[in-house]
Amino acid sequence: MIDTVEAERRTLRNITSVLLCSVFAGAALLAGVATAPARAEEKVLWVPKGDRSPFDIATLPRPPLDSREAYLEFMAKNRPDKKEMVIKRYDRYLAVVRNRDAWRDKEKRAFLMTPREDFALEEKSARAYDHAFLDIGYGVTISGPHLVSRMTSAIDVQPGDKVLEIGTGSGYQSAVLSYLTDKVYSIEIIEPLAERTSKTYEELAQEGYPEYANIRRKAADGYYGWQEFAPFDKIIVTAGIDHIPPPLLQQLAVGGIMVIPVGPFPQVVLKIQKVRDKDGNITITREDIYGGRKKVGFVPLTKAGGGNWSK
Ligand code: SAH
Repeated sequence: MIDTVEAERRTLRNITSVLLCSVFAGAALLAGVATAPARAEEKVLWVPKGDRSPFDIATLPRPPLDSREAYLEFMAKNRPDKKEMVIKRYDRYLAVVRNRDAWRDKEKRAFLMTPREDFALEEKSARAYDHAFLDIGYGVTISGPHLVSRMTSAIDVQPGDKVLEIGTGSGYQSAVLSYLTDKVYSIEIIEPLAERTSKTYEELAQEGYPEYANIRRKAADGYYGWQEFAPFDKIIVTAGIDHIPPPLLQQLAVGGIMVIPVGPFPQVVLKIQKVRDKDGNITITREDIYGGRKKVGFVPLTKAGGGNWSK
């Protein structure tokens, strides 16, 4: 069984290398990508019955962006966040905006609404707004606030978009996404971490952040995506890999955007778009979200049976 899966992954990987070699890959190639097998070890932690999300995010109050005083006042009035954290968040927000890591008002608001400190380990929460990644246990880390904002901005989430995240980790990235659409799907391969984060979402949803009740989640190998809910309008991969997993490319909607760190450590963060050209052909385009100025080291995208894809 393992051998079959390995062989299939190798085939899929070769197909992706071909795709990566050409900016414009033909529809025939995409159609030829094999469908991934269902993974025996996956564990769905929460999905809604039917397609309806429990919480309507359009009812959320919108924080002011341009005045520290107005923002602090707004948060004190509307949200349970601790004041000292809200102050640190606004300072980091100013740096994120200065650095052009949050591109539109919606991503700025998402940053200002998300209590990053609640996704960090307790002993690290004072450092939640440092310009740094943070250890979250299980040998993995939560990406820094600038990187999370830039990757979020790169996929330009529209209300109602289905967004798939690979690598739930602490849950911070999906929490940010939950302010942009009510349909976030997130997959984590380390089962106890996936369970811990699922509990964090449940608790926070009870404590005044009902938007996190919308986040669909499972413990599984995200290499294979989440076929049952495909296609996805947007996909965000938060672990590094040396190729684009073909099942993810296949599960990306036409017109969709994927952001993924690709290559040997440290990776190039690529924005991949699947578009239909004027002749009706499906093509793949890619660009570096840092415009060639920067590479970023990510924790590796691991394989379910051990090992990883990152060199
Ligand atoms: N997005 C996370 C942090 C990402 S760290 C956050 O906001 O905190 C990368 C995460 O990807 C880790 O938790 C790691 O366990 C997970 N991961 C690695 N390989 C994976 C795979 N094949 N499928 C799903 N998750 C994976």
